Parts: sequence; C-alpha cells; structure tokens
Amino acid sequence: MDTQTLPDNVLTTQLKKVVNWARRSSLWPMPFATACCGIELMATASSRFDLARFGAEAMRFSPRQSDLLIVAGRVTIKMMPVLQHIYQQMTEPKWVISMGACASTGGVFDVYATIQGIDQFMPVDVYVPGCPPRPETLIEGIMAIQRIIDEDGLPPAGKRRPLQLAVEPSYSPAAQPLGIPVTVGGKVL
Ligand code: SF4
Repeated sequence: MDTQTLPDNVLTTQLKKVVNWARRSSLWPMPFATACCGIELMATASSRFDLARFGAEAMRFSPRQSDLLIVAGRVTIKMMPVLQHIYQQMTEPKWVISMGACASTGGVFDVYATIQGIDQFMPVDVYVPGCPPRPETLIEGIMAIQRIIDEDGLPPAGKRRPLQLAVEPSYSPAAQPLGIPVTVGGKVL
C-alpha cells in the first residue's frame, strides 16, 4: 500500500507494542504494606505525588485483579506464607517491587523472625532503596517496571524463577559479636 495515501488519523504499529502499552499504562498495584514504608506508599498515591499520572493509582486489596505487588516494610517468617499466597493469586503477567531496606534485606532487623530479603522466597523485579524511600523513589521504581514491560515479548518471556514454597531462610546468620554460639540445623556457627 502506498503510505502516502494513508490519512493522518491512521497509526501503524505492532500488536506487542499496543498490548505492552496498555499493560504499562494500567498497572494495578496490590499493596502489602507492613510498616513505615507503607506511609510513603500511601503518600505516593496522594495528590502531591499523583501516581495517577502513571495509570497505577487504583490500589485495591484484590490480588486476582492486581498485577503489581508492592511489598513495603519488613516481612516476618510467619507472614511469608500469606505473602506467597497473595502472589500466587495474582494474575499473570505480574511484577513485584520490593520497597525499602526491610523488604529487600531485612534492614536493621537482623533477627531470626524477620525475612532478610523477600527475594529469598519470591521473584522480585525492582528493588526500591531507602529507609524509607521517598514517593519519588517509588515512582522511579514503577517507571522501571514500565520500562521492563515495554521490552517484554508477547507472550511475556517467562523468565521468572519458580516460587520457593518451603518457608525456611536460605541465608546463614552472621557470626555473633559476643561470641555466643548460634546453632542452625544442629550446626554450631
Ligand atoms: S525500610 Fe525503614 S522505613 Fe521502611 S519499613 Fe524498614 S524501617 Fe520502616
């Protein structure tokens, strides 16, 4: 077809680009906010920062309709099965943001009850640093997710790691400063 004859109101593109554009522009966050980072997450949706500019302001506690899990705050070993259950209920394709030092590394809570990074138990796409991260930082994280979606194939590349359903830490505790022996699995550290 002679493109010179196409009228101005016709746009040609690829199906992949249209689908990814729709996905990136209508992200539906599922907030899992357990601590102070949750306050910054709420602020991100407020009028001052206006997450609606990125089409991602519809936060509902509704995993089956959500496609962006935002974990904000520390997660304990008792909470992990609940978080994994929520992740499993979400629709594919889905993405995960680990917001703040606690969700990504355990933060200052270097204790047996706190997960030292949710990525030991579930796939994470973007880590948002800070304690707490400011709303602008979270928005940058959401824009990073949008860039990931832009480059995704159709269907999505399917490079996700399988969910680790066994709820047990995969890290070794650090040596204790006072020389108190720590026993892990019958082994004295
Ligand atoms: S990273 Fe800092 S602000 Fe966020 S939950 Fe942990 S202690 Fe609170």
